[in-house]
Amino acid sequence: MSPLSRRTLLAGTIAGAGATVLSSAPAQAIAYPFTLGVASGEPAPDGVVIWTRLAPSPLNADGLGGMSSASVSVEWQVATDERFTAIARTGTVTAVQAAAHSVHVELTGLLPGREYYYRFRASGHISPVGRALTAPAVGTSPALTMLFASCSHYEEGYFTAYRRMAEEHPDLILHLGDYIYEGAASTTKVRKHAPTVEIDDLADYRIRHAQYKTDPDLQAAHAAAPWLVVWDDHEVENNYANLVRNDSSPAGDFRARRAAAYKAYWEHMPLRAAQAPVAENMQLYRRVRWGSLATFHMLDTRQYRDDQACGDGTKVCPDADLPNRTLTGTAQETWLLDGLRQKLGTWDLLGQQVFFAQKLASADGAKSMDSWDGYTANRGRLQRGWDAAGLRNTVVLTGDVHRSWAANLMADYTAQDRIVGTELVTTSITSTGDGNAADTGTSSLNPHVKFYKNLRGYVRTTTTPTEMSVDFRAVDKVTVRDYPVKTVQSYAIEAGNPGLQAP
Ligand code: FE
Ligand code: CA
Repeated sequence: MSPLSRRTLLAGTIAGAGATVLSSAPAQAIAYPFTLGVASGEPAPDGVVIWTRLAPSPLNADGLGGMSSASVSVEWQVATDERFTAIARTGTVTAVQAAAHSVHVELTGLLPGREYYYRFRASGHISPVGRALTAPAVGTSPALTMLFASCSHYEEGYFTAYRRMAEEHPDLILHLGDYIYEGAASTTKVRKHAPTVEIDDLADYRIRHAQYKTDPDLQAAHAAAPWLVVWDDHEVENNYANLVRNDSSPAGDFRARRAAAYKAYWEHMPLRAAQAPVAENMQLYRRVRWGSLATFHMLDTRQYRDDQACGDGTKVCPDADLPNRTLTGTAQETWLLDGLRQKLGTWDLLGQQVFFAQKLASADGAKSMDSWDGYTANRGRLQRGWDAAGLRNTVVLTGDVHRSWAANLMADYTAQDRIVGTELVTTSITSTGDGNAADTGTSSLNPHVKFYKNLRGYVRTTTTPTEMSVDFRAVDKVTVRDYPVKTVQSYAIEAGNPGLQAP
């Protein structure tokens, strides 16, 4: 069915049911406002967040999406079927200009472990339909199909990998950061950023988020399943650390810039009110339970970190090992260790941004000071903490590096003595453009690092109480539309036996 005929059908359906289901506020003359699609996120056993933003002209220079200052009543429907014949919940929410006419509805009263469909209506217009799931009930452990992704630079390629993720019909999608990029428009890439400058104020961040969200492949991925999102650096500025910038251009108050970036991020993501920022602070790290099968510990490794050791370079720096240096901040470290020790589910999955496993220095001394190798004491306390608590099923999920990697996490990397967990690193959706399948990346210096591939894509996981099966999924090109996706490597992780196994 074409999008047009689908919309016509839904409009007809909703008109027929409208007298009883959707009592409309006085119509305001706005053009079709659902140009950014719909999204869901933050699944709980009794509900999920559903999101949209009204933006008839999403790239308007004021960042307000073509909306006036008037508040708009937005009706929403949740059904157990895609045609909305079995309505589960309905309601109305007010979209206000202070939040760029975004709406975040925190649904409650739904059944655990179920599939739902949702849509919105405003000013007589009907939104696309999204699919959401509630988390299973605690005490149950149905199999989970979860995809995770990172680093989706709009200019570097087409979002084919997002389209392929939607086609996988997953239960849950994680985005681990670099959802947008803040840089100025390029003249040499396949697409062009709006606005054309490096974004640094609220209007700019809103326009950039809106531009990304106009992409139909990204819209399809959001509509396919609930998402859990955490940011990395480019949602604000490359390699920032807390309030420390890595360059001084464009000039300006970084505190105000971070506040603008965080606000726009929250406005455009299916997050709860609990995550809404206050000035330049936003409570993004949080736990989401998937029944008794898995617990997602979603980490924020930007907002509280110490500045990169010895600058933002890629050389070994002795300061990296100082015991007081932190990537998570003290409060988040305590929160994470406390949550791990609770053993809330079979699997503990850390959704986070930067490379976690230690890399033993190569002859040229190359080491990323932006990764956990720049904060080794913090990493050591976490690994020792979960190991001492007897956790055998910790899997660290990582983004950032625009390559696929897989590694065993070792109690002592130098001695290579004992595996205490597993790290899966997703490549980028598009960032750095087309890959090269012939690239090599693993080294005998780091025997715990098992896999490297330079192609764009995502990771698919299927988790049961006894095993997580892992498929690295990739497309050959992103500068040409519509490549198929293929599995380039698979692993199994056995419950109770940390580390990567041949499938
Ligand atoms: Fe990136
Ligand atoms: Ca990054």
